[in-house]
Amino acid sequence: MGTTVHSSFRITDAEAAREHSFVNESLENDIMTELHPNALCFGEEFAASGAPCLVHVEEHELTITFIAGRDGVENRSESVRFTELTVSAGGLDHNQLVIAWTGPTGQRTLYLKSPEVIRAFRHAAPDHLTQPIERAAEQVRQVRQRHRAVWTLVGATLLAVVLGLWFGSDLLVELAVDRIPIEWEQKLGEAAYRDFLAHQDVMKEGPAVTAVTEMTQRMIGQIPDNPYKFDVTVVKSEVVNAFALPGGFIVVFTGLMKKAESPEEVAGVLAHELNHVLQRHGLERIVKQLGFVAVISIALGNPPGMGGMMKQLGIELMTLKFGRAQETEADLTGLQLLYRAKIDPSGMMTFFQRLAEKDEGRVEWLSTHPMSRARADRLQAELAAMPPLKAEPFSFDWTHVRASVDSR
Ligand SMILES: [Zn+2]
Repeated sequence: MGTTVHSSFRITDAEAAREHSFVNESLENDIMTELHPNALCFGEEFAASGAPCLVHVEEHELTITFIAGRDGVENRSESVRFTELTVSAGGLDHNQLVIAWTGPTGQRTLYLKSPEVIRAFRHAAPDHLTQPIERAAEQVRQVRQRHRAVWTLVGATLLAVVLGLWFGSDLLVELAVDRIPIEWEQKLGEAAYRDFLAHQDVMKEGPAVTAVTEMTQRMIGQIPDNPYKFDVTVVKSEVVNAFALPGGFIVVFTGLMKKAESPEEVAGVLAHELNHVLQRHGLERIVKQLGFVAVISIALGNPPGMGGMMKQLGIELMTLKFGRAQETEADLTGLQLLYRAKIDPSGMMTFFQRLAEKDEGRVEWLSTHPMSRARADRLQAELAAMPPLKAEPFSFDWTHVRASVDSR
């Protein structure tokens, strides 16, 4: 109770202060009229860039004073009644109130940006203008809020960078990544994905594509509240690899499929990759490596000089090496995903082990997803603890799929 009284008292105080400064400001405007245009007017007799003017809101009309030019022309005023006006939102960013009417020499348009004048106009305007003004004001407010949100994000980001450098903390990276919208992440990932695929031998159809699509679809169907539209591409290449880019863009090489003795083994890799995306691991890594500001600048558009940064980002994304904690997280969530999709999760374990034992050094996948003893042990223990699963087979024949990629 006491708090309420106290705070309402403070609000009244603040309001009084604002009122006071508003009065001072309009007084000042009256004295130094020629120095303070508060709007821009467009019309036939004005320059294409518009005429700076001073708008006064009166009881039933607006008075517009055109500021005198250097050529000695005097200030000149005209009035227009509220009943003659139409109102909308406009300006480069829809952040201005646009007032139009027919003046002595034709159509006139007034762009109001000053919050004080807009407020005074809203106060004084008659009923028939209330709705369009409210609509326009709402639009203006939304634009301002959006700008404020971006600046808050940039500010928070800068602060996080400083703190991040200070503490070198993964936690701060995660906090910052949480604030990056999925759409931005998709933009980053998709640019690198398209760039990469442009130089690859992409498989558009055939048994390998059908098989990978079936595996992926079965797992995606088991992801609750999935915000990503996953896109999986099979690339003809001897490289033993598969990778996921931020935003849900996944590439599987036929070289990796050839090494797999069962579809469950490939599904194990896919489950692992899907979870790097879902846990936003790639984004965390690039934010850590390139810095937040760079990532946000790229995502927000193409600021000048960012072309090089974009290339750099593409390279970083392709050679991302995940951290130990991220690998284990992708393994464990991957196992659970396989289980929910009724795909035998032991395939993941056997494949990782076989690759690590027989082919180490020649398996690109292992260089970006390092297989440590601890990781293997954890995977083994987790698998052993899972309740027995009645796995459902895939509809394709793996021997056939494998032969189709082998014959190339
Ligand atoms: Zn991994």
